[in-house]
Amino acid sequence: MEIRYTAIPAERLAAMREAGEDEFGNKWQPRVAEGWEPLRCCLRKASVDEDIALICYTPWDEPSPWMEAGPVFVHHEACAGYPDTGEYPALFRHNKAILNPFDHSGARAYDHITFLGPEDDHLAALANVLSQPDVAYVHVRSGSAGCFHFLAT
Ligand SMILES: [Zn+2]
Repeated sequence: MEIRYTAIPAERLAAMREAGEDEFGNKWQPRVAEGWEPLRCCLRKASVDEDIALICYTPWDEPSPWMEAGPVFVHHEACAGYPDTGEYPALFRHNKAILNPFDHSGARAYDHITFLGPEDDHLAALANVLSQPDVAYVHVRSGSAGCFHFLAT
C-alpha cells in the first residue's frame, strides 16, 4: 500500500507567521535551537543555532470533539516542508511512538491504537493499521511526550 506522510501544511504555518501568533494566540517568537528539536514543518531535527518557534498545534482543521492540541517545534521562517511524502520520515522511525488512528467519521479507532518501541518496525505497523477497513488516517505521535509528529494516510 502507498502511505502518504504529511507535515504541518505550509499554508497554515504561513497564516500563523503572518498573524504573529499560532492558532491558539501564542506569540510567534524565535528561539535558538539547541539541535535536538524535532521540527514538524519539515520532519527533520533542528540544527544547532537555527531559528525555530514553539507553537501549539492541532492537526484538525475543523471543530471536532476529538481535537487534541499540543506543543510542537517548527522553523521560525518558512522552510521547504517535507517533500518526500511517500517516505516514512527517518527522524521518527526509531523512537517510541503512538499510532493514533481515526475512522471515516473522524472518531478515534480505539481497537487499532498501537504503541511502538525504538526497535519495532514502524513502517510495517503503520501499514497494518492503515490497512484496516475502519481506519481512515493515523496521527503518529511521540510515545514518550505524546506530541504530534505527522499525519499518515
Ligand atoms: Zn521546517
